[in-house]
Amino acid sequence: MNLLIMGKPGAGKGTLASIMQDNYHITHISTGNIFREEIAKQSPLGIAVESFITKGELVPDELTNNIVKSVLTQGHFPNGFMLDGYPRTKDQAIALDRILTELNMPLNFVVDIEVDDEVLLKRITGRRVCSGCNTIYHISLHPSIKQDVCDVCGGILIQREDDKEESVRKRIQIYNQKTEPLLDYYRQKNLIVTLDGRFKREDVFEFVETKLGITHGNH
Ligand code: AMP
Repeated sequence: MNLLIMGKPGAGKGTLASIMQDNYHITHISTGNIFREEIAKQSPLGIAVESFITKGELVPDELTNNIVKSVLTQGHFPNGFMLDGYPRTKDQAIALDRILTELNMPLNFVVDIEVDDEVLLKRITGRRVCSGCNTIYHISLHPSIKQDVCDVCGGILIQREDDKEESVRKRIQIYNQKTEPLLDYYRQKNLIVTLDGRFKREDVFEFVETKLGITHGNH
């Protein structure tokens, strides 16, 4: 089962992917996570993409396509993969079609997570991430026991630079302009299934089993 997960920033793409990875063993590939890891290492790729990400802008297509191509070519996906946050432009969608054809990998579904802009803004600007282990919190929806300290590892919680309000508004605007039109592209291919962004954990199992037809979960 190979999937794309689409939705505005903060829609819950990463949360959905991590529940599905844990329970259905589908490999989660997030271009945002790949970029953030490279930035943390200050690798040449990380240095090249850092300023785009901090400002909430898209990393250039060619660079992003090359990374996805190498991950898909070198990886091993016994239960398939979920691409989270890619493609984000028409050029990327076309590049992905080409990569998948070359590798003889089908695309089964495109999951579109739907959420209201104001809900997104509240979710993202309240989000805090542990600088040690990357656990995600929310200042009001899912706070840590001790303010600004991670419950899991005791690390300091920080706000991602691109989770600040100005950057979030820009990311939503870029999504509306460049990424939303892709839904039509995939609608024409009959691949879209929608998920209400207010989903809870149990809703994911029902969604996966009824809409995607996967029944081998271990929840
Ligand atoms: P995300 O965690 O998916 O919201 O990604 C964080 C940031 O990484 C985005 O705001 C972009 O700057 C960059 N990024 C992630 N995926 C892509 C992509 N497919 N194309 C261009 N930039 C991306």
